[in-house]
Amino acid sequence: MDIHLLGTGTAVPVKNHSSAGLLVRAGGQNLLMDIGPGTLARLELSGTTYDQLDALLLTHLHPDHSLDIATLLQVFNYAPGAERKQPFAITACQGSQDFLQRLYALYPELVPEKYQLQVRQVYRDEFFIGDLKIQAAPTGHTSHSVAYRLEDGEHSMVYSGDASRYGELAGLAQAADVLVCECSFPEGWETQDHLTAEDVGIIAAQAEVEALVLTHLYPQALAADVLAQVRNHYHGELQVAVDGLHLVL
Ligand SMILES: [Zn+2]
Ligand SMILES: [Zn+2]
Repeated sequence: MDIHLLGTGTAVPVKNHSSAGLLVRAGGQNLLMDIGPGTLARLELSGTTYDQLDALLLTHLHPDHSLDIATLLQVFNYAPGAERKQPFAITACQGSQDFLQRLYALYPELVPEKYQLQVRQVYRDEFFIGDLKIQAAPTGHTSHSVAYRLEDGEHSMVYSGDASRYGELAGLAQAADVLVCECSFPEGWETQDHLTAEDVGIIAAQAEVEALVLTHLYPQALAADVLAQVRNHYHGELQVAVDGLHLVL
């Protein structure tokens, strides 16, 4: 399983920490997870091209996780001489069908022309894409936001998307090889709909994950020693992601 972190920040512009997006190559599939602004342009960091993508998993619909879906659908329809013809699968939170209809109203040229777009809405779910087993669970960041667990028979990874301490992330991530987890703020920051470094440490310890990779860091988290704050609770492998980080499981 190959994991390429394409965007490891938030909506706030910070060098080497772009809006959310990652590419996973596993089970014979090339999957994008979240597609914040610039994700498509940074796809080259993974060595996978847009026409090799099989599916997109969206954790929620905030712009820093979803905005480039417009660019993706545009390139599928209009890449000169390379219009998409094979089906494309989008798995996303509740409300995504409606989101797409509204996007088509705004940009009629995004309505799929020569290919079939399959959309699956999930909340608490388990399903397969190719040979890849995927589980979704709510994270409490928004009323519909979900995290995903991917298993290819050998390895497992979990991506939190945006999360709160009231979600089901620790259960979903149980004994995963790697948890790619949002760490929006340092310890002590007042938040109801994101995770602080303390929250992340507690969740990773509860889940007993092999390795923890921190992503979605606001400047306040980047300015703090979040690694030490996480270490107060979690003692496995740990790092802060930057755009372009490549993990091999
Ligand atoms: Zn976000
Ligand atoms: Zn969000």
